[in-house]
Amino acid sequence: LTLAVSVAPLDLEPAGGVLIVLHDVTELRRLERMRREFVSNVSHELKTPLTSIQAYAETLLSGGLEDDANNRKFVERIQEQAERLQTLILDLLRLARIESDEVAFEIRAVDVGDIVLDCVRDRQDLATAKGLSLVTKSPDGPIMATAEAEGLSTILSNLVDNAINYTPSGGRVEIEWSQPGEEVVISVTDTGVGIPLEHQPRVFERFYRVDRARSRELGGTGLGLSIVKHLVHAFRGRIELESQQGRGSRFTIWLPAGESETRSLPRS
Ligand code: ADP
Repeated sequence: LTLAVSVAPLDLEPAGGVLIVLHDVTELRRLERMRREFVSNVSHELKTPLTSIQAYAETLLSGGLEDDANNRKFVERIQEQAERLQTLILDLLRLARIESDEVAFEIRAVDVGDIVLDCVRDRQDLATAKGLSLVTKSPDGPIMATAEAEGLSTILSNLVDNAINYTPSGGRVEIEWSQPGEEVVISVTDTGVGIPLEHQPRVFERFYRVDRARSRELGGTGLGLSIVKHLVHAFRGRIELESQQGRGSRFTIWLPAGESETRSLPRS
């Protein structure tokens, strides 16, 4: 508990007095600390690729490299690090947009199957190249959720990209969706490295990674799951993680169901 104290003299006759007010500022301090940590994390994340870019550029300019092949390699490294910066900035902007109260999502009934299949189509080649099978499972007919199409697409892309990134060759990634009741359930399951129990509650925090070096190597920003969580909550849904180290992970999302256009037409 953190208390702030304000004291004011009171003009009470005949003895006078003081007014003491105690404010509970625990939550305020916690928010301030979180903000400071966030700014320090962002600065660090921006500094790392910038330092590399500077070092590569300096080496090239110093003329120490006569070898064309080597020069090319250095320019490629500069490009990689610039791409890293760009991904990070795009993720930060996305997170800021979702967290801002002013943003209005265009929430309506969206066809989950359409969005999942688009996301899978874009990643099929990558999965095959990595020796993974990327499969979908759903009942016949459309499953409609109440969400924003672009946001749902971001949620799925982040979850499927993680599943592909953290699953070794020979593994399997499955996306399943259905509507058992008033809610739509979508799950992304992989047979990958899994997340140790003690890390599970924290992976949705901004910049939290189980293995920092591995995430960096894979081009991760550490913001993906935080973006996913915020979007799911913006759509009045919830998300859960089940995972076993070395066995795989499953992320499950529940979203309010949406009325399909064809279903809402009056029957003739
Ligand atoms: P990143 O950009 O590092 O992937 P995320 O916010 O998407 O950041 O995920 C946070 C961390 O959670 C990752 O660094 C990784 O350690 C862990 N993680 C996320 N998804 C998976 C998964 N499917 N399998 C194993 N670990 C995962």
